[in-house]
Amino acid sequence: MTISGGKKFVPFFLAVFLIAPGACSKKIHRVSRPLLGTIINLTFIAEDHEAPGAAEAVFDEIARIEKLMSPYRTGSDIDRLNRLAHQRPVTVSEETFRLVEHSTAISMESGGAFDITFASMARLYKNSEGSFAPPDQGALREALKLVDYRHLLLNPAKKSIFYKHKGVRISLGAIAKGYAVRRGIEMLKSRGITSAIVEEGGDLQVTGTRYGTLWRTGIRHPRENDLMAAFDMRSGESIATSGDYERFTSHGGKKYHHIIDPRTGKPTETFASVSVIADDPVAADAWATALFVMGLDRGMKLLKRRSDLQVVLVGLDGRVHASSSLKKRLKFFKPVKVEWL
Ligand code: ADP
Ligand code: MG
Repeated sequence: MTISGGKKFVPFFLAVFLIAPGACSKKIHRVSRPLLGTIINLTFIAEDHEAPGAAEAVFDEIARIEKLMSPYRTGSDIDRLNRLAHQRPVTVSEETFRLVEHSTAISMESGGAFDITFASMARLYKNSEGSFAPPDQGALREALKLVDYRHLLLNPAKKSIFYKHKGVRISLGAIAKGYAVRRGIEMLKSRGITSAIVEEGGDLQVTGTRYGTLWRTGIRHPRENDLMAAFDMRSGESIATSGDYERFTSHGGKKYHHIIDPRTGKPTETFASVSVIADDPVAADAWATALFVMGLDRGMKLLKRRSDLQVVLVGLDGRVHASSSLKKRLKFFKPVKVEWL
């Protein structure tokens, strides 16, 4: 019995041995889909038969987030808040509540440079047909009074939010992309996929490695249709870039981009691009926007306190400032004089 039982183990071990090389049939899959007003790009290492289901799970999750949080979707949490929260506290999902909470914390910590109520004035940049128009100065002054994160009252116990004034609006436009990226990676991990990049309109997070080599990403040159630097991402890291080249319109010879200084109601004139590297893609996304508004001096003060945020800042004059912790990791394609922070 013992002997025959022992013999039975042999085929078992053999089987494992024979199946194991099958793991090498895992290959890199790349799948893209338009969602959240941009393109989601997935890169992950998996068996062929696992790949479609995994990609679909990520896209379904991001579509769910869009439905829950887009201000343009009737019945979404944000739509309900913007329509009703000035009349009575509106209860939202736990997820939306946490993102609003995180956004108000960043609004506070950035001294209002990032402001979740920025959407209260955003509509002024649109004319009656919905296309771009520079705002009327008087209307802008009025609307700016509504841009203040302190107009929100958050009730963590009830997950409800109340707006102290009529006309206040919020949007998660500068933070939701990071959240979608984070959920994308979580979805892949929950399916046993441990090597992946989830990228969305310039924001991305990686997990694992590319067959033992760090995943490599590029930082775009804000003024050339090319990359400025390459960067090897450690497992779990994320990077988000805000740039004045990403979304902009021209009017009367002037360029208007999409990141607005809540103090003036006008597009900022600080940087050409800001990239933030952090473990949390939500923080990376939101702080890229916040630092973009803060500019170099205020930004440097903040970065002294926030060692979890590493940055590459490209000024309007082309000067580059970057965190000294990135010195060995950033590989510039052309010689660039970097001032290390
Ligand atoms: P992108 O979406 O191009 O990567 P960001 O992540 O920096 O850029 O987000 C820009 C979006 O953030 C804008 O389209 C707008 O919805 C919103 N936004 C603009 N200015 C501010 C601000 N001062 N505070 C908070 N959100 C802002
Ligand atoms: Mg952002």
